[in-house]
Parts: sequence; structure tokens; C-alpha cells
Amino acid sequence: MQILYVRYLAAHPVDEIRCVAQTRRRSRCAQRLLSAESQTGVWSLVPATAEQGQLALPAEVMALYDLTTLPYAEQLRWRMQRCPAHAAAPSAADLAMADWEPFDPLVHHAHIHSRLPTHVRRPGPGPGQHARHRARP
Ligand SMILES: [Zn+2]
Repeated sequence: MQILYVRYLAAHPVDEIRCVAQTRRRSRCAQRLLSAESQTGVWSLVPATAEQGQLALPAEVMALYDLTTLPYAEQLRWRMQRCPAHAAAPSAADLAMADWEPFDPLVHHAHIHSRLPTHVRRPGPGPGQHARHRARP
């Protein structure tokens, strides 16, 4: 995934990433980050290049769930790994650590997929979300 121009490896599929906040019952919030109301990112194929100082993997593309087009606050919510309700309640403690891992194409090579997901599950009704290819130089 790409949040605020940084690529991360999520510990779970996009639609299964759970909020890390603690509920009033002192258990971990069961809400997913991707809710029926929230805006969705865009799947696109991007070059699987590494950060500076590392070797690029030539001619390899990978599927990326890109949140860059979302408002800043919404991207922050994803990075904090909180559902919309808990993003609006910053006093709630985090029960779990956000489990983003900075993405490294060499270390996380097994997670590189050269094709877009054939279907994107989305909870609840909403406008259709179509993955689109984006050409980059
Ligand atoms: Zn929550």
C-alpha cells in the first residue's frame, strides 16, 4: 500500500485490516479500516523499484493499493490504523501496534504481484470501484 507517498506492507489484506484502538470494553475494536462510508484507494501497477540506495528490480511491476488520492486526514487515519470512529476519538488508546512495515521489494519479494487483483471486495453498498492501470514513465 502507499500512504502519504510511502510504501508499506500491510499485515493483512486491505479489506481485513482492523482498527488498533481500544474500545470501552477494553477489547480491540473490531472495525475494519475500509468501511462502506470511507473512500477507497486505487489499485494500480507500479514499478517495483526500491528506495534510494538499493538495487531496482528491472522490468518488474507490482500491484499497489494507492491511497495517495485520498485527503490527507484520511491517509493519516490509515497510517494510524484506526476506523473512522476512532480516528475522531484520539483519546482512545491503541490496544495494538499499527502493523505497517516499510515496504522493501527485495525483502518482501513474495508479496509482489505483477497483476492487479481480479476482484476488489468492499463491505457494504457503494459505487463500483474499478482498478485502473496507470502508466508511469
Ligand atoms: Zn476503531
